Amino acid sequence: MNLEDLKGIGTKTSKLLNKLNIFTLNDLIEYYPYRFNILERTNLVDNEEVVIDGIVESIPNVFYFNKRMNRMTLRINTNNKIINISIFNRAFLKPNIKVGNYITVIGKYDMKHNTITASDIKLFRLPNNPIIEPIYHVVKGITSNQLNKIILNNIELYNSEELIPDNLIDKYRLLNKKDSISVIHSPKDKNSLNRALNYLKYEEVFLFMLKINYLKNKRTDILGIKRNINKEDVDKFIDTLPFKLTIDQNKCIDNILNDLNSNNRMNRLLQGDVGSGKTICAVIALYINYLSGYQGVLMAPTEILSIQHYNNITKLFKDTNIKVEILTGKLKVSEKKEIYKKLLNKEIDILIGTHALFSNDVVYSNLGLVITDEQHRFGVNQRSSLKDKGINPDILYMSATPIPRTYAITLYGDMDISSIHTMPSGRKEVITLLKSEKELKDILDIMLQELKNKHQVYVVAPLIEDEEGTSDNENVIELKEKIDKAFGKYFKSGILHGKMSKEDKDSIMDKFKNNEINILISTTVIEVGVDVENATTIVIWDSYRFGLSQLHQLRGRVGRNNLQSYCVLVSNKETERLNILTTTNDGFKVSEEDFKLRGSGDLFGTRQSGDMQFKIANIKRDFNILLRAKEDTQQLLDSKLYVNSNLYKFIENSIDIS
Ligand code: ADP
Ligand code: MG
Repeated sequence: MNLEDLKGIGTKTSKLLNKLNIFTLNDLIEYYPYRFNILERTNLVDNEEVVIDGIVESIPNVFYFNKRMNRMTLRINTNNKIINISIFNRAFLKPNIKVGNYITVIGKYDMKHNTITASDIKLFRLPNNPIIEPIYHVVKGITSNQLNKIILNNIELYNSEELIPDNLIDKYRLLNKKDSISVIHSPKDKNSLNRALNYLKYEEVFLFMLKINYLKNKRTDILGIKRNINKEDVDKFIDTLPFKLTIDQNKCIDNILNDLNSNNRMNRLLQGDVGSGKTICAVIALYINYLSGYQGVLMAPTEILSIQHYNNITKLFKDTNIKVEILTGKLKVSEKKEIYKKLLNKEIDILIGTHALFSNDVVYSNLGLVITDEQHRFGVNQRSSLKDKGINPDILYMSATPIPRTYAITLYGDMDISSIHTMPSGRKEVITLLKSEKELKDILDIMLQELKNKHQVYVVAPLIEDEEGTSDNENVIELKEKIDKAFGKYFKSGILHGKMSKEDKDSIMDKFKNNEINILISTTVIEVGVDVENATTIVIWDSYRFGLSQLHQLRGRVGRNNLQSYCVLVSNKETERLNILTTTNDGFKVSEEDFKLRGSGDLFGTRQSGDMQFKIANIKRDFNILLRAKEDTQQLLDSKLYVNSNLYKFIENSIDIS
């Protein structure tokens, strides 16, 4: 059903809803509030926020400091106790506050002066049940209240499908789905709200863990490729590298060699900060796989990254006979066909590319190893369809978004994990500075200093352009104007963002790599793996819009060689949170803090990507629910009771069953 066919939604509202990732009726109804305002009578406690109603005893008295500033005072009688009320800048309420009427006051109580300094006054008596108001994340142009009305106007059309088995509904005394959805958008009391929240959280993590456990079961059912490669043969190649491997890199390589030599299928997550040297581990894995006679692929989320990997890897393998090719969407049809042919004839040993690597036309002769870079960028579906291209290829995922161990074990319960904690030596730590927008001069000075030293600069903004001219946030288009004003005479700038064509993107990236462009102004498309060693500074506008892990990832664009690099976070808000980044460069610590502050919501940066998005559960607060769901789903899968249920359809639709 089209959004515009729904009650109360025209073209304008529909566009606004799209911005919230709401495109269908289901998206709308499953757009949950992120918190609730609760208005409920409290006791009068000294120095605490109280909510009290009472009868107005005195005509309000208003004192005007100036035109805008005023203070109103009055007395109310609550339970035969007279209390003074004082409230700022609400003189407009005075005509509605009548002696003898009930009002409700929200504010801080000062026992000594028997006064509530109110933040709000409502012109009604508190009902016996609390008033609960759902609050939604919104964008400019629509209020939380309006969104709630739209949802309630259309909620009857929503067809809720119950996926949780009855025995689990009983076990946890959960509401059913239909009621939970209805309660969450119009809660009447705390008890039912809690039950609705419990249901929805449980459902969310249940379905998530079901997928994970399903994949895990599937893996242990399958035997992998057994190889027989000696470490000495691998060491011969390692000796040709231009640097010595770090201890952690060596450990990871040992893990990988064990996996590849074993009977079991490898399913390993290799995590480590940007620049920690994951790629070389992947390259060595590809080398081992090559020695054992199999083809390998390395898949990257973007074309830019694939090309980078291709260039790196061909360099590292230049003294070997290994045949490396690259396959991206950009190739001509004839070029693609040539690659397909070579693949089948085993004239290619290693193929690098984007998800073009697993389009239907690609057939491998004997695929033995699949490596994906920044694995969270790929959905479960894509992953398994790639897996299914080989017989039982081994799988290695690389991620620069480190996850604290406890969470990783649960969420990546179907994988083994190797971590790189230390950076290659000789690397200087990136210096991170937090600046307010007022400190523009400092920001420009840092940029200028680096530009003068012939280094390059990234500038990141949260938006591409301000279509409606309503946003306070910086956007790429306007930033370019500002920057050209400051530096245009001497330095060249360029723009990169997701809405540009591939050709334009590549051409800009090439120019930046060749230092024909000194300043690259971009959205977060540069977040993943872009590698320009001469770039030593990254300035991130409106940093508060990003999660810590995402900022950390962006920061990883600089500090990629032994030059001193800088990361400037520009923000007028949330400075305490952002400050964490000025104190540590350790991605594991950053992600730990991110977890503490926000739960998983932002772990993988942008909200539209990743398998690990929870809408309502919070991985930290609701970790116990997750653990329970982990057990429940495993039991369910073991019992095979799901095979005839809606759940089966769910699994079938969300994962390739083959
Ligand atoms: P990641 O993929 O983890 O972000 P890379 O593998 O791209 O990091 O490594 C970043 C840079 O560090 C590359 O230029 C790489 O050649 C270099 N590098 C990797 N390992 C080492 C090492 N042990 N010593 C020195 N430099 C290294
Ligand atoms: Mg990498």
